[in-house]
Amino acid sequence: MTLEELSQEAADFTIASSCNQAEDLGIPLIFDPPLVAAADASDPLFRKLQEPQIIGEHHQLPAERLEHAASVISYFLPFCESIRRSNRMSGLPSTEWLYGRIEGEAFNHALAAHLMAVCNDAGASADAPLLDPDIRISTFTCTWSERHVAYTAGLGVFGTSRSLITSRGCAGRYGSIITSLRIPAAPREFDPFLPFCSTCGRCISRCPAGAITWEGKDLAVCAEYQENIKRKFAPRFGCGKCQTSVPCEHKLPVSLQQ
Ligand code: SF4
Ligand code: SF4
Repeated sequence: MTLEELSQEAADFTIASSCNQAEDLGIPLIFDPPLVAAADASDPLFRKLQEPQIIGEHHQLPAERLEHAASVISYFLPFCESIRRSNRMSGLPSTEWLYGRIEGEAFNHALAAHLMAVCNDAGASADAPLLDPDIRISTFTCTWSERHVAYTAGLGVFGTSRSLITSRGCAGRYGSIITSLRIPAAPREFDPFLPFCSTCGRCISRCPAGAITWEGKDLAVCAEYQENIKRKFAPRFGCGKCQTSVPCEHKLPVSLQQ
């Protein structure tokens, strides 16, 4: 199986799945078809994620999650235009964005399960960390960071807001599958060591909690703000102001395109 075939599987499922719809909001598709990339399971960048200044020793290697792991397939699901547009105002998150975070994440789980089944049908073993309820070990860290795995697979680079900026921007969700299938990794689209983004600073001024500075994002401040949102909109939560109405919302910031 090739990366192109897997990408097509993921795109077909995204377009056809009823889980990817929010009909009561008039949104035919929560997500556009995903960007998909593969990393070699033994890529040294996975070990680098275990360094204390990045994530820490608790971040698992692919082989620790799946015996005979050969490849890690990572994908980015960009939110559709109407969800992104709805959240461009300042202040509270839009209803559409809150749906995108909750119903959207349910679809993300369905896509991960589907891609795992595709690997199994091809005679391979597979693991979708997203479906493991034990990966989150605190509000701030987990044993498998989808964003960092996407970075490792070459899907994008981190910005000032600590969102991962892909060629389809940063407003969306991530997932990954570890598999014994050997999927040849495409050449990385970005130099994984490129420093941050265009540094326009728009995400800093967009954040209603003041969580983002030039030094990065204060996870505790962001989490507390989102807890307050949850108290207001439970069971929904989210914010995403740093991912909307910013130059990296749905494309690369200009400086990375040059
Ligand atoms: S809004 Fe500007 S500074 Fe913030 S992550 Fe995007 S490109 Fe970088
Ligand atoms: S999600 Fe909201 S509170 Fe958190 S950093 Fe982004 S804009 Fe700030």
